[in-house]
Amino acid sequence: MFYAQVLTLFPEFFSSPLACSIPDRAIKARLAQVDCINIRDFSVGKHRRVDDSPYGGGPGMVMKPDPVVAAIRHARESRPETRVVLLSPTGVLFDQAKAREYAKSPGITLVCGRYEGIDERVAEYVDEQVSVGPYVLSGGEPAALAIIDAVIRLLPGALGDERSAEQDSFGEDGLLDYPHYTRPEVFEGKHVPEVLLSGDHARIEAWRCEQEEKRSKRQKR
Ligand code: SAM
Repeated sequence: MFYAQVLTLFPEFFSSPLACSIPDRAIKARLAQVDCINIRDFSVGKHRRVDDSPYGGGPGMVMKPDPVVAAIRHARESRPETRVVLLSPTGVLFDQAKAREYAKSPGITLVCGRYEGIDERVAEYVDEQVSVGPYVLSGGEPAALAIIDAVIRLLPGALGDERSAEQDSFGEDGLLDYPHYTRPEVFEGKHVPEVLLSGDHARIEAWRCEQEEKRSKRQKR
């Protein structure tokens, strides 16, 4: 069983996407478990504040360190075997190799920021900082969801056919996937490549390898 704990101010963000398709099936089959922990539950005081204005001035609000660190401590106690990952655009880039690394581990605890981000001192309480790409999201939740989805599809038994994950882009061979076609044979005047209709498995295999190479070269340029 792969455990993902998500520390967030918006647990409701995750209900619908995790109740669809592959994540839903994997969770129901007990291959994975995703638990959301509301950071607000760890705030103290009458107003349960989780953010405050930045020292030094400037726009927006910053997430206070105390509720986040209390939530991290709770998460570490609940699942000491999981790696604590802070989601940040300044972290190391999440890629398929990282997804494979997480999928082989007992689990991850993902910390989602909001507003201008989380007080910098929280970085000392996590194991690593990860970014899902060189762009800025409004919160860590879509990043957490992308990571959870990418990891779940790598768990043995999560996909209908194990070969799907092996042939996906960014596999062990580092190549992009070949193009896929289905019926109709002709769509708005565009034909399915003849080789795929030939029934010649060796030719089809060779064509797919060639396409993987071509696409991978094109993307590098
Ligand atoms: N002021 C921050 C900056 O420019 O680096 C951006 C803060 S962003 C609006 C709020 C939160 O969204 C971040 O604390 C982080 O948790 C999450 N986030 C935004 N972009 C992300 C990315 N590319 N990868 C991972 N997390 C991201």
